[in-house]
Amino acid sequence: MRATRAIIHIDSLKRNIQLIRKRVGEGRLICAPIKADAYGHGAAPVAKACLEAGVQRLAVATVDEGAELRAAGINAPILLLSFPMPDEYESVVSLGLTPFVGDKALAAGLERAAASLNARDGAAVHLKVDTGMGRIGCAPEEAAELARFIASLSHVRLEGVATHLAVSDSLKPEDIRYTQEQIRRFVRVIEAIRKAGVDPGVVHAAASGGVLLHEEAWFDMARPGIVLYGYTPDPALAGLAPFEPVMELVSHIVYIKQVKKGESVSYGRTWTAPCDTTIATIPVGYGDGLNRLLSNNYSVLIKNKRYPIVGRICMDQCLVDLGKDGAACKKFEKVTIFGAKPACTAADMAEILHTIPYEITCNINKRVPRVFEEAVCEGCGRARRT
Ligand SMILES: *Cc1c(COP(=O)(O)O)cnc(C)c1O
Repeated sequence: MRATRAIIHIDSLKRNIQLIRKRVGEGRLICAPIKADAYGHGAAPVAKACLEAGVQRLAVATVDEGAELRAAGINAPILLLSFPMPDEYESVVSLGLTPFVGDKALAAGLERAAASLNARDGAAVHLKVDTGMGRIGCAPEEAAELARFIASLSHVRLEGVATHLAVSDSLKPEDIRYTQEQIRRFVRVIEAIRKAGVDPGVVHAAASGGVLLHEEAWFDMARPGIVLYGYTPDPALAGLAPFEPVMELVSHIVYIKQVKKGESVSYGRTWTAPCDTTIATIPVGYGDGLNRLLSNNYSVLIKNKRYPIVGRICMDQCLVDLGKDGAACKKFEKVTIFGAKPACTAADMAEILHTIPYEITCNINKRVPRVFEEAVCEGCGRARRT
């Protein structure tokens, strides 16, 4: 197998789910966001592990992502979080996806698609209300009327009502007040829908931030994404629960050489050896999703010690200065790029790149094989790899 691979620790994923389950309680539904190939972890195996761990629903962003899960034999309800194009409506219905709906045109289009397909159960939809995220969804004052319209359709049924919170992961007092105002608006929307004689079904609002900080946002279902994968939406929340990184990006040293003081390595000659040293070549680069801005700006982990990436990161390779420890690291030694516990995480890398861990794991691309690892039995240490 290729030296560079992403090990997906299924046991860690399942423990993260148990932490979320404990937090929101047994009585609530958990919907696992599997969008963007499960934040880069591999959609179908992650979805299956989530369902094994008791998650009741899945969510994707695109119709193609929903089709991939269905093709993998997954029958669980799948929420579609982004609005589809008209030429995708029939696929939404035939795949049995549950789309967010934010206007009459989409509801009516799904009604026509379901009617023309003669779909047995029609299409379940969730009404998406924009209470302050400013992205998709109807205005709060339109929600009751839209709910009534959906309830009047014969092939489309209202199965839930949802909103999304803009700053639920922030500890700033003004952001907490904003989130509380979004929740109040949402509660008023739900009351108005009930008053209009329509059952709102499954009511939901909380992503990871809401799960961690706003109990009033839990309603009937939570949609925690990044915490499933072992990170918090904001580094300030990392202490709230012992979530474990699920993706471990590893590579192996494939070449070792001595470099003399004053010699340079890699494109652009951005690094010159300050003294005689040992340089290792690692076959991972920006073509795999290792951001080029980390050139001369990040350290990898080898045998529990950090070593700096020196010179420019290339498309397929980068260089690491082993320094005086050169002799301690052998060719084919394992190198962890991120995802080891507790040091060297995607959150550390994200901080250096002024981004969030979501983008780090999502950007590890298809060229990197995913190895799904799970203990055969708890505690015995034996692992199954697929
Ligand atoms: C991505 C997404 C989530 C999950 O967000 P996290 O911050 O990863 O928990 C939940 N709800 C919606 C609508 C989303 O788009």
